[in-house]
Amino acid sequence: MTINEKIINEFPEIKIRLAEPLSLYTNTKTGGPADIVAFPTTGKQAQALVVFAKENDLPLTVIGNASNLIVQDGGIRGLVMILTELNEIWCDGSKVHATAGASLIETTEVAYQHGLTGLEFAAGIPGSIGGAVFMNAGAYGGEIKDVLAQVTVVTPQGELKTYTNEELRFGYRMSRLQAEDDIVLEAVFELATGDKQQIRQRMDELNFLRASKQPLEYPSCGSVFKRPVGHFTG
Ligand SMILES: Cc1cc2nc3c(=O)[nH]c(=O)nc-3n(C[C@H](O)[C@H](O)[C@H](O)COP(=O)(O)OP(=O)(O)OC[C@H]3O[C@@H](n4cnc5c(N)ncnc54)[C@H](O)[C@@H]3O)c2cc1C
Repeated sequence: MTINEKIINEFPEIKIRLAEPLSLYTNTKTGGPADIVAFPTTGKQAQALVVFAKENDLPLTVIGNASNLIVQDGGIRGLVMILTELNEIWCDGSKVHATAGASLIETTEVAYQHGLTGLEFAAGIPGSIGGAVFMNAGAYGGEIKDVLAQVTVVTPQGELKTYTNEELRFGYRMSRLQAEDDIVLEAVFELATGDKQQIRQRMDELNFLRASKQPLEYPSCGSVFKRPVGHFTG
């Protein structure tokens, strides 16, 4: 049995595409075919795919909303997991929980609807929760590390682990996830109660500023250059 047949047989409940052009998914609209693309809808499915990749020596690549990626024309060998269908957001008191593929922009909307402040800076960042934690995404003076309480990850060995904010070793657009191959499954943000009208106003203000500076209608992967201290090179 080929590896393609094996994965389709083993995971009939997961959407799987073969030789799928990644240009269909990237914000840059570029990128050649991935051998196998899988779209898990639960953490358990994502974990099972990680174990499958390990047991079958398949290289594994994880993609969120593909808003910070340039995929080469040659594509990606092995298994690519696209997590945008692992996509739930819920509140529990002052905490907002979101699974890895949930949109960061939608998460800020849910926080606003519950009158929770702290995530306004992210109102226009087009990534997924997993990508945002991986990159410590940030804008307008805020970053994920300011509001993240903890994440649940699956390790390349298929084990589930929880990391606190401190354990993620966040830096400027950096986290420990860039050095290790753990995959974020869920994040918990600790926010504060705020004034809904002020939260909306700040989100609208930042989105207006963004739209006035960034040509959002064109394919891109956002800012490319690192910001040197005291300067802006977006
Ligand atoms: C128009 C535009 C504006 C932008 N503005 C900003 C901005 O203001 N601030 C900012 O910080 N960024 C910005 N970005 C960049 C991008 O949106 C962020 O870096 C975002 O966090 C990337 O998330 P993603 O889900 O798209 O990640 P992807 O592009 O899918 O992946 C990026 C990296 O994260 C890894 N990854 C993705 N999901 C997971 C997961 N679940 N677990 C482990 N690793 C994972 C991938 O393997 C890859 O290495 C912008 C991009 C665009 C196109």
